[in-house]
Amino acid sequence: MECIFCNITEKKSEAEILFEDDNIVAFLDIQPINYGHALVVPKKHYDNFLTVPSNELAEIVKATQFIAGAVKRSVKADGFNVITNNGDSAGQTVYHFHFHIIPRFNEDFTFKPRVKNYGTGALKEYADKIRSVISKYKDIYNGK
Ligand code: 5GP
Ligand code: ZN
Repeated sequence: MECIFCNITEKKSEAEILFEDDNIVAFLDIQPINYGHALVVPKKHYDNFLTVPSNELAEIVKATQFIAGAVKRSVKADGFNVITNNGDSAGQTVYHFHFHIIPRFNEDFTFKPRVKNYGTGALKEYADKIRSVISKYKDIYNGK
């Protein structure tokens, strides 16, 4: 299947590339939330955050930290968001894993959804649900 980010990393499509190494390509998002909004994209195609091998993810995070510092400094941002959207419900539109680096300026816009409150017992209920899945998969996490 055609993948726009594979095309960019393979130089079949154009992008304003900021940096690349053996593992990643960083380029400007074509529809920025703020000017300087960058994407860090692994050269290998993985659909989303969950399918990136953890050793490769470590390299992508390292590059993202480096690019985030450069973006912040170059556009004189007050801060930045590093986000990854996973799944339609989370706003993912390109199914090739990537980190967004979004420079932020004091009082530019609010990025804060309305928060919920847990009802009685619900905090533990949700924690139990998650803990039970964690305990099922923790041997895989620990490499056993
Ligand atoms: P997602 O919605 O999957 O988290 O993010 C995909 C991002 O890729 C969007 O912010 C979108 O603007 C950006 N994008 C989509 N197509 C292209 C393209 O052809 N070139 C560049 N530079 N960015 C793109
Ligand atoms: Zn791809």
